[in-house]
Amino acid sequence: MNKLSDIGTIKELLSRHGFTFSKSLGQNFLVNPSVCPRMAEYSGAGENIGVIEIGPGVGVLTNELCQLAGKVVAVELDKRLLSVLDETLAEYENVKIINADVMELDLHQLIADEFPGMDVVVCANLPYYITSPIIMKLLEDRLPIRAITVMVQKEAAQRICAPVGSRMSGAVTVAVNYYAEPRQLFTVSAGSFMPAPKVDSAVIRLDILDQPPVQTDTEKFFAVVKAAFSQRRKVIANSLSSGLSVGKDRVLTILEAANVPSNARAEQLSLQDFANIADQL
Ligand code: SAM
Repeated sequence: MNKLSDIGTIKELLSRHGFTFSKSLGQNFLVNPSVCPRMAEYSGAGENIGVIEIGPGVGVLTNELCQLAGKVVAVELDKRLLSVLDETLAEYENVKIINADVMELDLHQLIADEFPGMDVVVCANLPYYITSPIIMKLLEDRLPIRAITVMVQKEAAQRICAPVGSRMSGAVTVAVNYYAEPRQLFTVSAGSFMPAPKVDSAVIRLDILDQPPVQTDTEKFFAVVKAAFSQRRKVIANSLSSGLSVGKDRVLTILEAANVPSNARAEQLSLQDFANIADQL
């Protein structure tokens, strides 16, 4: 649909459909025309590429993706938006809307059914109330996808894209870097959305790795990361002891064998440090 990201067009469309925003569904719609074309371009969408979009809203980003991609499947939880999307995407034959909660969907099955023989990427302006759970589901499910390009709150973007071992890093930094190579692409001001959220946003791209950069038991690795960051101000010996419910003496032995100083803090450790600790469990 022409001029869809124009604020006047969106307001007219939503009022005609009697739509009111749901805060609990994280509905902040993009009304800055320059953002979606850039996001679609960065996503890697192309002729033979299938795109999964999460939360199409009124379809501003979907429109751009449909122009570039072989096929777009957009998962929208709010069924009130289905008639809006029918209208705004009417001109495209390469799009399918699925009315579902993305957290409940079997995305392996979706990819097998909808994108046979195609490379697949994810591109979305994520609902902020479940940004991390969605990103972790996309990564942990080990989906056959190439990249994830998403809009998230600026602070979340900075945390995800911080170097592992730096002050800004957190459990999500380590978790994302286990599966992907993250980078921040550009920032988007709060005023680019309707209604405007309290904080600015940023678009990040996660390029999926063929395999994790460290070889270890995934479950143990994540147990260590979770325990280590559960009390990030504490030294690693204490946070691991309480987080893993393991006696302090045993933790000190593990850390020594893993060659990790017992007075280090979680934010100072590398992926290899976490893997070495996991190997000792
Ligand atoms: N893509 C649109 C845009 O950029 O203007 C809308 C983005 S808005 C931040 C998030 C969208 O995700 C909303 O349309 C909301 O209804 C939808 N949504 C929220 N929770 C969802 C879930 N669990 N599964 C699928 N869609 C969801």
